[in-house]
Amino acid sequence: MSFLNTILNIVFPVKCVSCGKNESDFCIKCLSDSPPAERENPEWIFSLYDYRHPPIKKALWLLKYKGKKRLTKSFAEVIYEKILEELSDLSIMENFNNIILIPIPLSRKRMRERGYNQAELICRELVKINNLRRGSEVDTASSTGSVNLKLENDILIKIKETERQARIENRKKRLENILGSFSVKNEEQNKKLINRNIILIDDITTTGATLNEARKILKKAGARKVIAFTVAH
Ligand SMILES: [Zn+2]
Repeated sequence: MSFLNTILNIVFPVKCVSCGKNESDFCIKCLSDSPPAERENPEWIFSLYDYRHPPIKKALWLLKYKGKKRLTKSFAEVIYEKILEELSDLSIMENFNNIILIPIPLSRKRMRERGYNQAELICRELVKINNLRRGSEVDTASSTGSVNLKLENDILIKIKETERQARIENRKKRLENILGSFSVKNEEQNKKLINRNIILIDDITTTGATLNEARKILKKAGARKVIAFTVAH
């Protein structure tokens, strides 16, 4: 371990948000003990955990509002496995390959306030994991266990400042709040979408209104198929 890492680990110790063990920020044992999300999303949205489970709720809060960005590593590991699992069905049936990874964007104002987009950070970790897997496959000459993922965080933009969805109780109001809030940045970015398969990433989905609105814009711009993965529901 480098000197810098040693210092960082003293100042910000690696400690599981759930069990407190010094293994990772959310250890794999606690993640796998977390209850899965109930399946009431549309069939193209895949969520991992039940948001009501206190450690999941706490971890997502720390990630979003307390700058605990390292949590994206733990979440990306499990999302990556989930993506592979779902794609092993999809790719055979529907040619879901050459995937573009798109995080749900923040508005410019929110990005300035928070300084980072947690969904984008999860995407970056997903690409890292995927590159590692692809690298090791060259050695082993195996063709399973990774996919062709490309992160594009400048295609979909949030053009409207909206009330935080979490603060709106009513389903209909959430839909109205998010309507017209996304856009494809420009013609050049639009070209990248034509006939491509997209994976949208977000930390939480509740009614699916945000993901649905993003998907609508991407499909209208020419994307072939759009699916989404979130940490919690
Ligand atoms: Zn733990």
